[in-house]
Amino acid sequence: MSSSAIAAATPEMIARYEPVIGLEVHVQLATATKIFCGCPTSFGAPPNTNVCPVCLGLPGALPVLSREAVELAIKGALALNCQVRPLSRFARKNYFYPDLPKGYQISQYDQPVAEHGFVDIVVDGVPKRIGVTRVHMEDDAGKSVHDGFKDSDRFSYVDLNRSGTPLIEIVSEPDMRSSDEAHAYLTELKQVIQFIEVSTCDMEKGHLRCDANVSVRLKGTEPFGTRAEVKNLNSFRFLKQAIEFEVARQVALIESGGRVVQETRLYNPDMDETFSMRSKEDAHDYRYFPEPDLVPLRIGEKWLGEVRASMPELPARKRARFTGEFGLSEYDAGVLTATRATAEYFETVAGVSGNPKMAVNWVMGDLMAMLNAEGKEIAESPVSAQNLGQLVKLVSGGELSGKLAKQIFPKMFSTGEPAGVIVEREGLKQISDTGALEKIIAGVIAANPRQVEQYQSGKTTVINFLVGQAMKATRGQANVAVVTDLFKQKLG
Ligand code: ADP
Ligand code: MG
Ligand code: ZN
Repeated sequence: MSSSAIAAATPEMIARYEPVIGLEVHVQLATATKIFCGCPTSFGAPPNTNVCPVCLGLPGALPVLSREAVELAIKGALALNCQVRPLSRFARKNYFYPDLPKGYQISQYDQPVAEHGFVDIVVDGVPKRIGVTRVHMEDDAGKSVHDGFKDSDRFSYVDLNRSGTPLIEIVSEPDMRSSDEAHAYLTELKQVIQFIEVSTCDMEKGHLRCDANVSVRLKGTEPFGTRAEVKNLNSFRFLKQAIEFEVARQVALIESGGRVVQETRLYNPDMDETFSMRSKEDAHDYRYFPEPDLVPLRIGEKWLGEVRASMPELPARKRARFTGEFGLSEYDAGVLTATRATAEYFETVAGVSGNPKMAVNWVMGDLMAMLNAEGKEIAESPVSAQNLGQLVKLVSGGELSGKLAKQIFPKMFSTGEPAGVIVEREGLKQISDTGALEKIIAGVIAANPRQVEQYQSGKTTVINFLVGQAMKATRGQANVAVVTDLFKQKLG
């Protein structure tokens, strides 16, 4: 049935169905070298310069597994709550493509490096656990580059710099029931993988690629429908849009008496639609068999323990600790654990200042505003976490008024100097010394007899005016609490 013959699905029709979604996510591991040879993985090198006989797929060249790649795969797997298999095996996945000179990809099949994990998500305040079926390692193919417009100068090129770049593929259970859940799953997955520095997850560079498997079933029915797989979604927005398009397409097809066929589709963002690329290949089409050039991969308790010990605290744990230990709101804890750099920055400020609550306000307020205004990442902040911690400590300890701190902070931001240096140079220290303040207060009292009289006849709010005058006289440097106390003493 051609798609043009099918009436579009109405919202009422779509509402009768439940989407079922499983994601396959490819993540490029942040190793310096390729998975089976010593060639660099650096991005943007001239075409076909980061290559050797192994990643060119020359006959007789032998792959040697990178220890670093395995360690990153293990870290990724642990962060996704997977069980790492003590024994896993590489397998050849055979297919032809011009940018795959070996004629096969080295992947893992029935014995992947890890399995049985999960990712916890929250959508509209509802928590949900999404199963991770497996994590397996594989090498990436090269790139085909198509160029030219006229038939006479239309060429395709092959660049094998990417060939042999290490990937992990993370396969989820078909546990998601909406595009929002898929979006939340990918968000969480990306965050945790970046956090542990297993990958930069830079989607523009293709370091994170997502395939969405989508089917629909009538609400209240058990069996899954036939799925279509939408390949190579390279942005969060496209993931959502492609799923929503697919759901509507499949519902329309079923409602008009048709059948969904299992196939591989591509999403076209310009048209906001998916189109068929090829009918779905089955595992047997790839003729998987154990890779004869590589020994089985053994990951013993000792190695696993070492990798586990090298892992930082994961974002979910950190969030729980920030809300518990520091009393932050869920929202604040979420913002402050968005990246590892942010979390570490905040913890340093909290630690140095000894005032986590105040640290939250400074990091999420003034610091982030300034960074945003200048388009800087927190890692590039001109104000070090140590220096912001010192500033917050001065405020927290009453040595600096909040108002003065707000004046000093932009100076710290433009010069990178610590607060203390700026305070000294500009003579901005808070005046808490009662001797010095008493003179000023005497002056204010003498200059404002009417307000003094009002205060003494019971209109005590006038004290705010008098304190304000004293602050003005000291260019904001007086300690408000001390000044207020002194006025109360003097005026009885
Ligand atoms: P393949 O290797 O052929 O892509 P897998 O069994 O590994 O097949 O499944 C791939 C993905 O498809 C997994 O993420 C899984 O959760 C998902 N999936 C399986 N069945 C369905 C279904 N009926 N609807 C939606 N997703 C599904
Ligand atoms: Mg697949
Ligand atoms: Zn190489």
